Amino acid sequence: SRGRADTHAADGTAATKDGKGNVIVSVRVRPNVVRDAAQESEWDINGKRALVGYKGREGGDYYYDNVFDAQDNNARVYDAAAKRLVRRVMEGYHGTVFAYGMTGTGKTFSMQGTATNPGVIPLAITDIFSYIRETPHREFLLRVSYLEIYNEKIHDLLAGAPPVGNGQGAPQEEIKLREDSKRGVYATPLKEEIVQSPTQLLRVIARGDNARRVAGTQFNARSSRSHAVVQIVVESRERAPGGTGTLKDNKRSAIVPGGVRVSTLSLIDLAGSEKAADSKERRTEGSHINKSLLTLGTVIARLSSDKDKSGSEKDKASKDKHLPYRDSKLTRLLQPALSGNSLVSILCTIQIGSSGSAAAAHAHTGETLNTLKFASRAKNNIVSHAKKADESFGNGGDAGSRALLDRYRLEIQ
Ligand code: ADP
Ligand code: MG
Repeated sequence: SRGRADTHAADGTAATKDGKGNVIVSVRVRPNVVRDAAQESEWDINGKRALVGYKGREGGDYYYDNVFDAQDNNARVYDAAAKRLVRRVMEGYHGTVFAYGMTGTGKTFSMQGTATNPGVIPLAITDIFSYIRETPHREFLLRVSYLEIYNEKIHDLLAGAPPVGNGQGAPQEEIKLREDSKRGVYATPLKEEIVQSPTQLLRVIARGDNARRVAGTQFNARSSRSHAVVQIVVESRERAPGGTGTLKDNKRSAIVPGGVRVSTLSLIDLAGSEKAADSKERRTEGSHINKSLLTLGTVIARLSSDKDKSGSEKDKASKDKHLPYRDSKLTRLLQPALSGNSLVSILCTIQIGSSGSAAAAHAHTGETLNTLKFASRAKNNIVSHAKKADESFGNGGDAGSRALLDRYRLEIQ
């Protein structure tokens, strides 16, 4: 199936009538390591097209909002795939960015990056604080949480206590997913840290990364099998009218007793999408990964079969159809994003060519094709009708939150 490239504008996020512009699907091709002679691949950046195949065998030819190749650094990826979404989160929309792809293709590289080539998370943090600095008529409160889904269990990476099952100390209290009309789907009990500077925010996330590292005896194995979810909750409200000048000047100005706007930016580094290699693993860890990622695939595939049906047939179909969000922790957590409540950017990472035997190369091509198909279905099927959060106390901006804003409101120096 072929995606449509026409719903997207030069800045990559034009909102269109059908909500398609609120969903960006990109493919990033990791620089080649070894090229496989039997493999055909081709990507056309301007045409936003990626073709991967195996000579004489099944292939795919798909269109996306962006196709990035080896020449595109993280800043370029961020600008095209996430920058506008982050800005809109600051304006009151929910936004979700997630990286999908097999292990080793560059999910973590894209989300975290390196000191010289920072990824989506640090670039988003820079933009969040720039926005706050440029918006002196509002004041902001930022809270961050960091969780990991591993073997269908949620671990709080900021809790201090070691995650369940690592053999060290008392395990954490079990974290559950809940839903209410104000907050949507949320994990509880989950530690949220209030942060007041980019450095502080980066430090909290680094602490979570560290907890993740400590929890896994084999970090790489665990990181490729778990989903890492950073959530930044942004609350803001208008400052007192008449308050002009810099935030510093405004420090003592009266606070308008007005509404608080609450929105969430979710930044997700998914587990590797490949099938588990050995059978023992497939039965234990692998089966859980597959559960979350398979359910994600199922939900995305089913989101759309609706679209092709019309009238009573559609009504019947939607009655019959149960979108299995509750079948896995990941889809439950992503439900608001997938069901149209959030702006979404999906970054699918692939690597063309692989070393090793012909069989290994073939399997690799199969996985690559699966990623491209996933991306293509996501592009065709996810529709977002995200709305700006109301400025009301009811929308998470309750009395407690107002008190927090009074106490911790950001004063950018
Ligand atoms: P994943 O998180 O998908 O398992 P990683 O992000 O850890 O993969 O990437 C695997 C390796 O490839 C890392 O050493 C990373 O630095 C490197 N890498 C991935 N993508 C790129 C890229 N676009 N440019 C340069 N190096 C990359
Ligand atoms: Mg990784």
